[in-house]
Amino acid sequence: MTHEENYLAWVKDAHAMEKQAESMLEKQAARLEHYPDLKARIEQHIDETRQQQAMVQSVIDRYDTSHSVLKDTVGKLTAFGQAMGGMLADDEVVKGAISSYAFENFEIANYTALIAAAELIGDTEGARVFTEIREQEVAMADWALNHLPDVTEQFLTRSAAPGVEAKK
Ligand code: MG
Ligand code: FE
Repeated sequence: MTHEENYLAWVKDAHAMEKQAESMLEKQAARLEHYPDLKARIEQHIDETRQQQAMVQSVIDRYDTSHSVLKDTVGKLTAFGQAMGGMLADDEVVKGAISSYAFENFEIANYTALIAAAELIGDTEGARVFTEIREQEVAMADWALNHLPDVTEQFLTRSAAPGVEAKK
């Protein structure tokens, strides 16, 4: 495979990753009822994720000469799908917050590899796009980690109170 072919395949993987991110975040946000700060931050990141999809698509459009309809590969991210299976657990808000942090770091690693590949093949516009996206993923990962103690504490407090729902 040429550098360009590998690069294009990875950019398409990133697009699939952002589709998966959007659906995970949407499910998470829709279920949250008692954790408004977490819900608001996730909703903000849903907007960012949709913009990221368009940004990634712009790189695909410049490199994909086949003009075939993009079919996002589902199933490559099953590990995270399983992590999100924590959704139906009694402590789903805590499991979800942990999974969010893990997924953001997965995204950070993917964009780090993409930036290196973009630079190697001389796609400065791609490198700029992926750097911009990576900054949003870093900000989300930082937020998730910094708020994990709060979420945990709030969950434990609610869980110990009789008649109070804690899980979401
Ligand atoms: Mg993303
Ligand atoms: Fe993200």
